[in-house]
Parts: sequence; C-alpha cells; structure tokens
Amino acid sequence: MRKLIFAGTLLICAGVVACTSSQLATATETGMILAGKDPDKARRVGASVGQFAGGMSKEISLDDEVALGRGISLKLLEMKGGLHADNELQRYVNMVGHAVAERSDRPNLKYIFGVVNDEEVNAWAAPGGYVFITVGTLRELESEAELAGVLAHEVAHVQEGHMVRVLKKMQVQTGISDALKATDSDYEEYGQSLESGLRVLVENGLPWEMEYEADTLGSEIATLTGYKAEGLRDFLGKIETPDDDDAEGGWLSHTHPPVSKRIESLGYHLDGKLAGFDGASQEERFAKYVTNRLAKK
Ligand SMILES: [Zn+2]
Repeated sequence: MRKLIFAGTLLICAGVVACTSSQLATATETGMILAGKDPDKARRVGASVGQFAGGMSKEISLDDEVALGRGISLKLLEMKGGLHADNELQRYVNMVGHAVAERSDRPNLKYIFGVVNDEEVNAWAAPGGYVFITVGTLRELESEAELAGVLAHEVAHVQEGHMVRVLKKMQVQTGISDALKATDSDYEEYGQSLESGLRVLVENGLPWEMEYEADTLGSEIATLTGYKAEGLRDFLGKIETPDDDDAEGGWLSHTHPPVSKRIESLGYHLDGKLAGFDGASQEERFAKYVTNRLAKK
C-alpha cells in the first residue's frame, strides 16, 4: 500500500475553460476514440488472453489491455443506451476524472470517461482506463467530491487491474483456450475474453473484496487530488436503503457488496488513515455543470 501524502491544494482545473485539451473529451470525441478499430490488436488480445488458459505465464500487454477495454466499452455502451449527448456535461466529468486519475498509481494511461444514458445507479471500469458513470448516478450526487469519489473507485479498479485478474482466473479455470483466440479482423471476433469481460461488468460483478479495495483506494485517490475524503461514503449514504435486499440493479444489486457494509468498511478507513484531511466539496461547480444541466432536459 502506498503512503498517503496529501497534496494540500485542490490540484484540478480552476474552471473548465482552463483545462488542457486532453481533459476535454466530448461525447463525440469519446465515441470516436472508442470506435477506432485495430484488427491486429484484436487478434493479439485473443491470442494473449488465450495463452492464460493454456497455463502459460505470459501477461497481457498494455496495448492488449487497452484494446480489450475498448471492445468491452463499445459493447457496454450498446447495451446501456450510449453516451449522453451533452458535451459540456461530458467535458466536466472528464475534467474531474482526469484530475483523479493523475493521482492514481497508473497516471500515464489514456483515461476516457463517459456519461451513459442509463437511469440505474451504476458505474463501470473496463480494462485500460475506460470509465463510465450513468445519468442515474449523477442525479443522486450533490458535489464534485462525491463525483470524484465514484470516479476514483472506478480508477482504483483500473489501477489494480481487477478485471484482468478476474478474466485470467476465469479462463485458466475453464480452459477454453480455443474459444479465446480471435479468428477474424472484426471486433465482434474478440471472442470469449470480451464476452467474459462484459459478463463480469454487467452480470456477475467483481469479487466483493475488490469492491471494498476500490472503495478504500478510491477514497485515498480522491483525497490525494484534494477532495473531501468522505465523498464516496456520502454518496453511498444517499443510495442506502433500509433493507439491502431491495436490490434495484447496479451498485444496489448483487454485483456489489451491500451498501451498508461498504459504508461500515469505508468508515474505518476514513476514521483512520484518512482522518484529518480537509478537502474541497465543490458543490456549486457540480450544480452548474451537472444538476442544473440535467434538470433542464
Ligand atoms: Zn466497483
């Protein structure tokens, strides 16, 4: 576990207009980046993930992780209603996401953040740095610190390579190496690795210990960025229901640990390692770029 050193100041753009161009991905730009096709990479992803199943020790390369993540992201967007059309909203979420990602342990990944047209409370991280948050989640949030907490939770999954680790384990166990090999130059032919990734994201979820880890590491990353450490916990408090069995999908379903348990677990961390940090909430800026814009629709 890395040592937590508080940056001391809110090291994100003072205003959206002051951000660098790399932080200003619009819905169109995000879509174009995601839609870029690279058949060679697709084939190599199939081959390298297939080798896991054959018991070989070869690790998936960064290029292959990114290509796999992009393929999974395209499928996910197809399933979940695509990217929200509001470019200012997408810019803002990318600004906060990139600020947080730069404080993670994998700051050199080319992170892409996207707001998805889905009313479920949910967020996803595909391998390689593709992070998505639903409109339904944004409606529940009330500050930039809470948004940063959710995005940082997803960045922590990417940082720790959670999905790649799960895929590797699944494929070694099932020994379906032939099915994993991409056979054609089309993204549709990514094969089982892509389908397995989607299933983990949408249906099965990650192992719960990875979710707890993403909560604690995510809160650390958001705090390092200069945000109030309690952002993620505050958000979880808003979506908590009296009965955890009232599952409504996404972060409230079996794909994640019960919200009450996440709050309890995070509490120990906030009262311990993260105690005493006085970060920013940025409620007004969040209202301007998210709450007010969504209300107009
Ligand atoms: Zn998670």
